[in-house]
Formats: sequence, structure tokens, C-alpha cells
Amino acid sequence: MSELTGKRALVTGGSRGIGAAIALTLAEKGADVALSYERSAERAADVVRAIEAKGRRGIAIQADSADPEAVKRLVREAVDGLGGLDIVVNNAGIARQGPLAEIGLADIDALLDVNVRAAVLVSQAVIPHLGQGGRIVLIGSSLADRVVFGGVTVYSMTKSAQVALARGLARELGPRDITVNLVHPGATDTDMNPADADHADTLRAMSALGRYGTPEDVATAVAFLASPAAKQITGTSITVDGGLNI
Ligand code: NAP
Repeated sequence: MSELTGKRALVTGGSRGIGAAIALTLAEKGADVALSYERSAERAADVVRAIEAKGRRGIAIQADSADPEAVKRLVREAVDGLGGLDIVVNNAGIARQGPLAEIGLADIDALLDVNVRAAVLVSQAVIPHLGQGGRIVLIGSSLADRVVFGGVTVYSMTKSAQVALARGLARELGPRDITVNLVHPGATDTDMNPADADHADTLRAMSALGRYGTPEDVATAVAFLASPAAKQITGTSITVDGGLNI
């Protein structure tokens, strides 16, 4: 029997990149998985087909994380579709760059709505549904800890906010034996941060291992935190950044 057999997981932003790898890795380990997306219906359907090919249930739910009502509906549909929830991974996120002197209000609001408010609202909405042994995993960024270049101040701030969310919620849910943790990816090869982007060589040069991570590298850490083996780990983070922040 695989370690997540019988578990029911929700992964936000599971249509592409890190979220898709998390959804597939959790399914590989035995979980049924609901995943959300904003626009990529086809790619979400591809991930669902890949989950089903592993013999697990997959459900794709369109829900804009920036819309509080959509977030509530997402959790409702995931609970109804899977018959409950045991694991929740808040992964959906956006990057908007620009020096603070120049970044516009629309970008600031989008970053706060998707990266911060949705993490709070998803966590809030799943609280009544998680039982003993439940797991919440938030996806932060190595930039939550150290901001190693300019132009990403607000984005980094949205990821730092999740450190306090994980710690505070870990305190609140600990008495129910539910853990809350963070995974901080470093440079990871996705649409958001392709390994062939202009800045990619600079990031490689700054990291100890000298390479980009894959979405699967991050998914492995998430699956560990979601597993029974991680039962004593809460309110903390695992950084998967190839040694960028050391
Ligand atoms: P990505 O390739 O751009 O994929 C983003 C995913 O989030 C997609 O599934 C997208 O759905 C979904 N999403 C975006 N905005 C959404 C919204 N408003 N509502 C619902 N879903 C939304 O990004 P990624 O690189 O996989 O990043 C995943 C997470 O890791 C993010 O939180 C990001 O900040 C974090 N991270 C990434 C890196 C990196 O180097 N890649 C580094 C540190 C942290 P659609 O397909 O429908 O658009």
C-alpha cells in the first residue's frame, strides 16, 4: 500500500508547473486529487487524465484564487467531489516584477490577492473539513527568507507573509493534530521562471548546485510533508533551492 492511499488532496494551481507535479506526485503515492486552475482548462484536463492513468481520482475545478467566492466554491466542490479532504496544498501563485518605485497598483493588488489573501482564504475554508492527521502545505519561495536581487520586493513580501501564516495556523490547528508547513522553491523550471530565461544563468551561478530545480524536486518535499512520516513537523519550512540562500 502506498503512503497516501485513501487520502484526498486539493492542490491549487495544479494545471501547470509545480502544482501539476505536486498533483501527480500525490496521486503516484495513492491520493485522489482535486486541482484548481484559472485559465488552462486543457492543461488541467491533461493532469486529470494523468492522475486517472495512475488509478486515482482526479478532478479539475476552475476557480480564480483572486476571487474570494470562487475560493469558497473551490473548497466546496473539492470536498463534495472527493468525499472530504485530508491534504491541502496552496500552490497557485503569480509573479509580477518591477522596482517598488515603479510597480503599479494593479500588480500590487494582484500579488496580494492571489499570493496572500487566497492562501488565507483557502486555509480558512478547509479548516472545518480537515480531521486528525490533516495536512496543509503552503508554497512560498526562497525569496521569503532572503531577497537576493532587486525588482521582486512585493512578490517576496507576499511569500514572507506565508511564513507567519504557517506558524500561526500550526499553533491553531496543532491541538487537532493537523500540521501546517511551507515549501520554499528556489529557481524552478516552469512557465513562471523558465531555465532558459535571460536571468537564468545568474540564478544558476548564485546557487551552490549551479542548476535550476524541477517541479518534481519541489513536489517531493510537499509529498513528504503530506505523509504520515512527517507527523511531528509543523510550523516550519523546507527550502528546495539548490543552495541559493546559504
Ligand atoms: P506557473 O508555471 O506560472 O503556474 C502557476 C499555476 O498557478 C498554474 O496552474 C495557474 O493556473 C495557477 N494560477 C495562477 N494564478 C491563478 C489564479 N488567480 N487562480 C487560480 N490559479 C492560478 O508557476 P510555478 O512556477 O509552477 O509556481 C507555483 C508556485 O511556486 C507559485 O506560488 C510560485 O510563486 C512558487 N514559486 C515558483 C518558483 C519558480 O522558480 N518557478 C520559485 C519560487 C516559488 P492557469 O494554468 O490556469 O493559469
